[in-house]
Amino acid sequence: MRYAVLSDIHSNVVALEAVLADLASASVDRYLCLGDVVGYGPRPNQCCDMIRELDCICIQGNHDLAAVNPAKAEWFTPPARACISWNRRHLRDNNLQFLADLAPSALVADQIILCHGSIPDPDHYTVTPADASLSFAVMKTRLALFGHTHYAEWFALGDGEEIPAEHPQPRGGTCQLQPDTRYLVNPGGVGQPRDGNEEAAYAVYDDEAGEVYLRRVSYDIATTATQMKEAGLPEAMHARLWLGV
Ligand code: ZN
Repeated sequence: MRYAVLSDIHSNVVALEAVLADLASASVDRYLCLGDVVGYGPRPNQCCDMIRELDCICIQGNHDLAAVNPAKAEWFTPPARACISWNRRHLRDNNLQFLADLAPSALVADQIILCHGSIPDPDHYTVTPADASLSFAVMKTRLALFGHTHYAEWFALGDGEEIPAEHPQPRGGTCQLQPDTRYLVNPGGVGQPRDGNEEAAYAVYDDEAGEVYLRRVSYDIATTATQMKEAGLPEAMHARLWLGV
């Protein structure tokens, strides 16, 4: 099986279209989405519609939950809160229901855990090896896929080993799964990358090859920025797209 892995689309339909176009030749059998289909960006309905049409195995991110439950946006920064309330006002009822019905995590084919921030807590940012250890402590599979930080990277833990102290292979590359080692892999953000690379990020997992390919694809940032300006979304939220932060 080959799985396309998408995360943190954030209502950026131009980036999502670029990723799906790039995937057209990748012969994937199944699409996985690690949450935050909406929030920040200008096209929440189109992103939800496209994810639903892909028959994706999709879990709920913190912005998806905040779109249907305003109390969950109280701790957001003021610009992020402004964006999610704009998204909430513009989402159709069927897409609000789609977001409300998403599960916080999923087990795929008895071999892959999907989570948003970490396995024990969807809101926890997995940034450091200490953060990663919280997920390794409870994961029962060889591979877990996570998002939330919008950083393309992975953490590996062999039997009795320390978790690497550095982020291995940020900004893409191939994660070759080794025997007796477990992996936490973040495909990076489709719609709002934050690892210093402004290109849309996603991954492909090939379970027969035992490899996760982290990929980047450029998209028309100007179009997304214009859509955000026209929607009256905060300038800082489209300015950051050019920088990948
Ligand atoms: Zn996100």
